[in-house]
Amino acid sequence: MRAVFGDESRFPRSLIEFQSRFATESACAQYLFERRWPQGFVCPGCGEGRAWLLKTKAFTYECAGCGRQTSVTAGTIMHASKLPLTTWFWAAFLMATHSNGISALQLQSQLGLGAYRTAWMLCAKLRRAMVNPEREPLCGIVEADETIIPFRTKNDPIVVPAGRSGIGKMLVAGAIEIDGGTPRRARLKVIEGFGKQEIHAFVLGAVAPQTQLVTDDWPSYQEIPGVRRNAITVGAMAAHIALPWTHRLFSNLKRWALGVYHGLRKTNLQHYLDEFVFRFNRRRTRHAAFDTLLRIGAHTTPAPYHVLIRKAA
Ligand SMILES: [Zn+2]
Repeated sequence: MRAVFGDESRFPRSLIEFQSRFATESACAQYLFERRWPQGFVCPGCGEGRAWLLKTKAFTYECAGCGRQTSVTAGTIMHASKLPLTTWFWAAFLMATHSNGISALQLQSQLGLGAYRTAWMLCAKLRRAMVNPEREPLCGIVEADETIIPFRTKNDPIVVPAGRSGIGKMLVAGAIEIDGGTPRRARLKVIEGFGKQEIHAFVLGAVAPQTQLVTDDWPSYQEIPGVRRNAITVGAMAAHIALPWTHRLFSNLKRWALGVYHGLRKTNLQHYLDEFVFRFNRRRTRHAAFDTLLRIGAHTTPAPYHVLIRKAA
């Protein structure tokens, strides 16, 4: 199969362009096919490349080797979904291109979805396609810091905690790559505590060897293997002067969480952080982000409902 949309680097830049390009199920299925199988169909059962497009089932291929039938959405985040592909594409486009993203409630109303739960599931599944499994670690000069995110429960207002103790709070570690004084990519991770073990695991998972790490003088950042560190003694100095970019990242994160979600819950917190980072890292390429989201989603194992609603421990 060949690309039918011409230049691959061209992504829809407006709602009108998006609407005309993805007006039909077959246009969406074709786009998805190309993201999932860029070199042509590959049977997930036996690896065979030859297949027939079935006439009786929508966008489903029957393997010439083993006879297995595979739809273009099987094994992707859209697996077994009853929603039209056009709805999925709209949701992906709105989530990826809105500068602040979109809540399930907003999505429900924008797409005219009958049930809030349907909109919530769409958002939850798309959010799981917001981490590129092949992303490169941060490198060069990287600022790192930690923060505490106030969370809400069903009936309680937002808890605003103080101090570095983690009891009953959501702790988040963050890192941001600085290139010539300009922030580039970021990482955010839910951590269990601000101790050496948690901080080392976060930093080593986020940065490349020989990264120049800039932190405050919190002792947990000491002696991270393979990482050079510039500790800034904060003391009386305000955090926004010592570590300006992580400070800004955290305050944007908190403002976003309050503005779009009226505060985050403990459930699925990491996925919300992934959503924030996905958008932050693509803030200058929002329209390409739509393509990235579908590309990752085409290779992401679907999460069943009971996993999506699993409560944080
Ligand atoms: Zn096969």
